[in-house]
Amino acid sequence: MRTFVRCGQLFSGREDDARKGETLVFDQQGVIEYAGPEAASPRRARSDQVLDYSGCFVMPGLIDVHTHLAYGNAKSEEDIDLYSPLEFRTLRGMFFAQKVAAAGFTAICSPGDAGQISLSIRNAIRAGLFDGPRVMAAGRYVTTHQGLTDWYPSWIGAPETSIGKLVTTIAEAIEEIRRQVKDGVDCVKIALDGIQRRDNGELVAAFTQEETEIMVREIHRLGKKAVAHARGREATLYAARSGVDLIFHANHLDDECIAAMLETGSAISPTLTHPRNTIDFTQPHEPAFLKGRPEHAQREYEIGCANWKKARAAGVPLLTGTDTGFAVTPYGEWNARELELFVEDLGFTPAAALRAATEVNAGFMTGGDRIGTLEPGRAADFIVLDASPLADIRVLQEKSRLHAVYIAGKEVGLPDRPYDPRQVTDFALSNWTDLYTRARVAELRQQRPTLAAAE
Ligand SMILES: [Zn+2]
Repeated sequence: MRTFVRCGQLFSGREDDARKGETLVFDQQGVIEYAGPEAASPRRARSDQVLDYSGCFVMPGLIDVHTHLAYGNAKSEEDIDLYSPLEFRTLRGMFFAQKVAAAGFTAICSPGDAGQISLSIRNAIRAGLFDGPRVMAAGRYVTTHQGLTDWYPSWIGAPETSIGKLVTTIAEAIEEIRRQVKDGVDCVKIALDGIQRRDNGELVAAFTQEETEIMVREIHRLGKKAVAHARGREATLYAARSGVDLIFHANHLDDECIAAMLETGSAISPTLTHPRNTIDFTQPHEPAFLKGRPEHAQREYEIGCANWKKARAAGVPLLTGTDTGFAVTPYGEWNARELELFVEDLGFTPAAALRAATEVNAGFMTGGDRIGTLEPGRAADFIVLDASPLADIRVLQEKSRLHAVYIAGKEVGLPDRPYDPRQVTDFALSNWTDLYTRARVAELRQQRPTLAAAE
């Protein structure tokens, strides 16, 4: 039995236009046999099935290369690392992976997660236990005292349940890489900066150039992809020179970084959604606001946009990813905002943004030669919309516009089940956000009449 999909408009991911009146044909295994004009399509047998989407826009399933399945919509670093057991986080991660699939994302890369959460979710979906997106899984970030995820005081270190694995020698780094590969990861994440700055404000790379090269060489020797967190210039340069496959953020890249990226083939996932949501959503009473995070994010965002545009103009591929998994980037809610921001802030056309989130992202994913475009030999991973994102990229964010999601030719029928966020992620121990000195209390008492009047 084959399935014939009548498409009002078919966007294959291979070109900038959608073609009208085309048909997609896929077999029982969910592999595409034909994509083209209805008139030239294979003959239909009586047992074949027809899906009539002749009033709709059909395109490849979206891919997000930056969705952390273990974070659970975290409000703080402790929330990511400490407050819930790995077993609970895995079940929660499966639930949230389904939320992301229901939003039209048929494949995700989870670059950096505690324990073996992402790869367990990947395997459970792959074994047919649950419906869900295709998952490209990493393990814990490999980090040093200068890198992201070693964010607690040195006498605490990175606990076993943390998303980071602290290594103190290059031998330990290699051991961790080999162990992760044995456990079955698709990629290894290196925390190349994120914690320490020099007195001039510059972020310090967590590993030396030589150490970075040794790690990346070993990851590649074992047949896996290397991904890195790098915001500063130094870490971005080390990553690019070492041939890290995908660099997240890279806000402070310069011409030397671009040249190295072109030489080794590194791509960038600038990850616009997390900072933009931080800028746009953080409320004045929140600790993030009081610490000046939105302002800092704004500055970094502006610097980043100018640099990412330069890198793109030079020919460095830009991949879409959101840093989903934080309280400002809940699963399935904003994944498609990244495409809107690619258009608004990086000057992509809607077609180029769609191709970034499908064809270009697929080029990085494990098994990516089977996804990302709708053409013979590829998987029938596609979504059905009742409006064209080529006319307005924001329609991808409207749940009411998304009619169906197919993975390997099977419609994913995931119920939009509500959940109690306080029992899912809100385990932080903080009770107060203010400090009640005598002076502060006196100040508050003075403000009280005004507050009362405002009510
Ligand atoms: Zn991230």
